[in-house]
Amino acid sequence: MDFFSELISWTEEHKPSKQLLAKKKLQLCKKYKRREIPTDVEIYLNTPKGQVGAVRQYLQTKPTRTGSGVAVVATMSKPGICPHGSCTYCPGGLNSYYGDVPKSYTGKEPSTMRGIRNDYDPYRIVFNRLEQYIVLGQNPDKVDQIIMGGTFPAFPKKYQEDFVRLSFKAYNDFSRVFFPRGKFDLEAFKQFFELPSPVGNPEREARITKKILALKDKQAHALEEEEVLNEQVAIRCIGLTIETKPDWGFASHGLEFLKLGCTRVELGIQTVYDEILKCTNRGHTLADSKKSIADLRDLGFKINFHMMPGLPGPSGKRIDRERDIACMREIFSNPEFRPDMLKIYPCMVMPGTPLEKQFRKGAFVPLSTEEAADIIVESKKYVPEYCRIMRVQRDIPTYATTAGVNRTNLRQYVTELAKKRSVKCRCIRCREIKQGVVKGKPSINVQEYEASGGKEFFISIEASDKLLGFVRLRFPPRSLHPAITLKSALIRELHVYGMAVAIGASEEEKSQHKGYGKKLMAEAERIARVNGKDKMVVISGVGVRAYYRKLGYAREGPYMVKSLK
Ligand code: SF4
Repeated sequence: MDFFSELISWTEEHKPSKQLLAKKKLQLCKKYKRREIPTDVEIYLNTPKGQVGAVRQYLQTKPTRTGSGVAVVATMSKPGICPHGSCTYCPGGLNSYYGDVPKSYTGKEPSTMRGIRNDYDPYRIVFNRLEQYIVLGQNPDKVDQIIMGGTFPAFPKKYQEDFVRLSFKAYNDFSRVFFPRGKFDLEAFKQFFELPSPVGNPEREARITKKILALKDKQAHALEEEEVLNEQVAIRCIGLTIETKPDWGFASHGLEFLKLGCTRVELGIQTVYDEILKCTNRGHTLADSKKSIADLRDLGFKINFHMMPGLPGPSGKRIDRERDIACMREIFSNPEFRPDMLKIYPCMVMPGTPLEKQFRKGAFVPLSTEEAADIIVESKKYVPEYCRIMRVQRDIPTYATTAGVNRTNLRQYVTELAKKRSVKCRCIRCREIKQGVVKGKPSINVQEYEASGGKEFFISIEASDKLLGFVRLRFPPRSLHPAITLKSALIRELHVYGMAVAIGASEEEKSQHKGYGKKLMAEAERIARVNGKDKMVVISGVGVRAYYRKLGYAREGPYMVKSLK
């Protein structure tokens, strides 16, 4: 007997209460050495047909929200090349050491493997990812999609548009088939995906792929139409991220991103030293980086910088620790940078790259795990409260690298070292309430700072030093889109965390914890008005447009806008 068959038979026999069932799950997890406790939906999906009727009423058959409330869907673009050639440390691409894989990837990362399994078809990738969320008992009703692999805007326009259109079609079709009238239909889901079934059965996979492709070919709509449909369906795309490099992230590219529905850009800044950009063959200058940041910010995008400590300098040797730390300090002290989010990926030596040759000759020695952790911890001292550190390591498995930090324990080193040095990170991630309980009376704080020639306001709601939500307001110094007038203010991000209110809280306290988004927007509008702005322009994910409509906003091109007159 395995975990599921024992639990299902037991449920059939004992007709348990929720508490009893939870206890039994724990007991069986120990017996079968399962680390994760399966959700009710997961159990239900593993119930053989003959027993479904008997156990259905004891299992909650509705998937619940993911921990963060948002389901990330990483979609890998097809293998390609970057137009400038290759950065000296960058793996992958066409005819690479790994064969044809997306540029910057090895084919071993979970997201690339999903891409390969699904022939890099965004429709199938999205279906596959949504299926996984539901099998784990999580409801992916708010999707944050990221398009990965190389320099996406350098692909032909038609490819870019089809990629996004098919992603949206997948959200819409998935919603229509498995969430008729907004309600999850577990039976339809079980039937379609032939569950329960053993993992890796090729015949079953072929049958499911055929069914997915049949849906894909039905009822083709244009991108704009798919996006409008997505405003009302069960699975909504609330944010779309595109990865690019600065010389493919100027205003002209940004205007195209807006047409695709993009709300955030991941930008490969890597370093603030021109000579390093040159000797690593980045194909752009520092001036390009600054221009791209300013252009994208003035169009309203959230910007996530990728930074790479431990790069080689012109001599071929790695730059020293002090310069790496100074680089990280510079991106926060210099208003021409100041990222909203940050990914710190220490430079690794990857097979088949020019950097690997330098390494083999003994000219270049990459950062060790300890050295990388040291630089990251020192950098944390400069990270302000308006920035979120998203990641400190890539998801490339260590076995796929030649040399460099050990993927499996960098984060652990960083945590231990920060503790030892009493470095308390104040970034958004370290202060967000997550699923915690709100303690104390929330208050609104406003931090003002200069960035790329404009004024930024980081407006947050906090209680007991925990972040409950925030909004990013910008006064752009110029107009890069007809919807953005010179008297417009921009909302680049609104984020409210899922949270609980302490048990026993009074009705008054409970009501204080409602409508944070509305309160933050009201404060942003107030600040804009007192500063002489007469229009608010919001860069809104397609799936959040309906929310802004409720606040009096209307569509103008890719934005949601409201008069403040
Ligand atoms: S721009 Fe990015 S994807 Fe392209 S070669 Fe450089 S690191 Fe790789």
